[in-house]
Amino acid sequence: MFELNIRFQIAAFLMWLLIVVDYRRNSHLQLLSTKCFRTLLILTGLNLVFDGITVYTVNHINEVPVWFNDLVHKLFLGSIVIIMFFNFLYVYILANNQRRIKTHKMLLLLIPIFISAIIILFGKLDYRITENAAYSYGTLVYVVYVCGILYLISAFSLTVNKKIELNTYQRHSIRTGLAIWFIILMVQMIFPRLLLSGLGLILMVLSVYFSFENQKENYDAMIRCFNKTAFHRMICEYNEKGKDMYLLSVSCDNFEHINNISGYDCGLDILKSIVKVLKKYFGNYIYHSENNTLSVFRSSETDDDYLNKIFEELSQIKFDKFEIRFHIKEINLGKYIVEVDDTYETLDFMSNELKGRESGIYSLNEDMWKRKQRHDSIVHIVSESLKNDGFEMFYQPIYNTAEKCFSSAEALLRFKKSSTKDLGFVSPEEFIPIAEEKGMIVELGDRVFEMVARDIKNHNMLDFGIGYIEVNLSRIQTVAVGIAEHLKNLISEYGISPEFLNLEITETASVSSEEILTENMKSLKQAGFSLSMDDFGTGYSNLSQINKSDYELIKLDKSIIWPAFDEKADEASKNSAEKILECSINMIKSMGIKIVAEGVETKEMVDYLTEHGVDYLQGYYFSRPINSDEFMEFIKGKAVS
Ligand code: C2E
Ligand code: CA
Ligand code: CA
Repeated sequence: MFELNIRFQIAAFLMWLLIVVDYRRNSHLQLLSTKCFRTLLILTGLNLVFDGITVYTVNHINEVPVWFNDLVHKLFLGSIVIIMFFNFLYVYILANNQRRIKTHKMLLLLIPIFISAIIILFGKLDYRITENAAYSYGTLVYVVYVCGILYLISAFSLTVNKKIELNTYQRHSIRTGLAIWFIILMVQMIFPRLLLSGLGLILMVLSVYFSFENQKENYDAMIRCFNKTAFHRMICEYNEKGKDMYLLSVSCDNFEHINNISGYDCGLDILKSIVKVLKKYFGNYIYHSENNTLSVFRSSETDDDYLNKIFEELSQIKFDKFEIRFHIKEINLGKYIVEVDDTYETLDFMSNELKGRESGIYSLNEDMWKRKQRHDSIVHIVSESLKNDGFEMFYQPIYNTAEKCFSSAEALLRFKKSSTKDLGFVSPEEFIPIAEEKGMIVELGDRVFEMVARDIKNHNMLDFGIGYIEVNLSRIQTVAVGIAEHLKNLISEYGISPEFLNLEITETASVSSEEILTENMKSLKQAGFSLSMDDFGTGYSNLSQINKSDYELIKLDKSIIWPAFDEKADEASKNSAEKILECSINMIKSMGIKIVAEGVETKEMVDYLTEHGVDYLQGYYFSRPINSDEFMEFIKGKAVS
């Protein structure tokens, strides 16, 4: 009988040892949950020791002092409740991104432990000792198990809460662990002579260990450092702690370019080299926080000399033909960051701001922070204006040089004055890229189409000599699936047919989406829209595209026009600018494509461009962009004069 019982204890203890060995083999993140799991493991070890001793004392009840037998039994029972409590706590903290439990909730959660403590201190244990069984029983034992079951129910209820961050696998493992403990407990209740409790607990811990303390989940084996999940957990942890903390991130700015040209392995080698340098200075806790970024947390600001040394060493990393651009970014998390997401947004913002800048050390300073706040305000007002009709369309008349009248206009998006409040004027040049970055551009683009169609219809624009309106398409819209059909449907609700819209496309779309772009352009044409190439001469326009695509119009950007009229420039550069302009005009004309010149500000420009056969002129010389009422007045006035 004795032998039968101790076998369970030995098996449980071996399992415990296995977990401990495996746990110690890996380095663990310094998280609250890690501390919690360690406590859980230690408590389970103690419980197994007490369990083993109780088997001995109860079987030799006449040989050991009564108080000692009572004591180990009570310690054993008490540790069960505390283990169940820590098991719940551990799952809770992990599932809630290291969030601490609020004091009042904690007090509530501690009630079963208090009840157990009181009953253990003052209650009395009964022992049943027969020829083939020896165990403790009585109210005390039942109360302790009921308290343990309360924690089991709490942990189980976590697994059914959809809001918390547990994946399906983790939810199942916790449920399995809890179920095993519960079933084993029931078996023991029915067959009290089988002392299975310790085995039940260790199986539960094992199940939790597999689902959470999974090293793979935190580790990036390719470059040998912690991964993004680990980084996220640390951010949550520091955010919860609210302590002063600095984040130092090293990113390779031209990583994507290097990866594209030299392949994935080359990118990987760069990351490995950065990890090596960082490990030398900061130890093992390095995080692969973004595709091209490695980060480390610091409890204080890093000394400038130290940073310079690291920078020097990073600059030694070379890959044959490439110059690698390193940006070291430092953020004072305690000062600037309130929510977990702020860290990611700030890192993103800094990366965007620093894009293309030379290698260097950049700390988040007040100026950058102010720009970030303006950026955030714009994100907010774009999103609010989408909900509250906070945008309006302005129109800039376009002059037809052959017919000597205004025959079209470009629709340009504006915030209504009431939307931007204290931000002052926010140009589309500022808010369109933000809308693109935040995934709001497709909805915004739809709104533009609706507003333009509504204005055309309400003002009967087409009756006043306006043949079509030019509408800008964002590069994201140009590669959206089914865009042609979608836009056609949008305007058909206002009874406007696609032939009255000309879509301006800027060829910034990346190489990877070129095929989709060409495909979409074809279907836009088929749907009845006409197309123009915007911003010709800015470096984005692609000569080979002109050839491939069916553009009705090409819009010369001001940057290709203005240098030819620049009074301050020396004669030679003015001459060559004029040559470029003239050749561009001739080339486009020879292809049979019509030309719109943008940024026409002076009479001199009007005369030159008209003389050289440019078909349409657009610019402040004629009119700035104006709202639809003003535009109609402008057109009607011109029609009369
Ligand atoms: P863009 O398509 O190149 O538009 C022409 C810009 O040049 C307009 O700036 C216009 O006001 C300005 N402009 C016109 N004539 C002159 C001139 O004589 N002198 C000077 N200095 N500027 C002139 P705006 O309205 O600030 O728009 C800026 C950019 O924002 C546009 O450049 C376009 O890329 C984008 N954008 C504007 N509205 C929309 C829209 O509805 N959808 C999308 N996707 N982008 C838009
Ligand atoms: Ca345009
Ligand atoms: Ca343009």
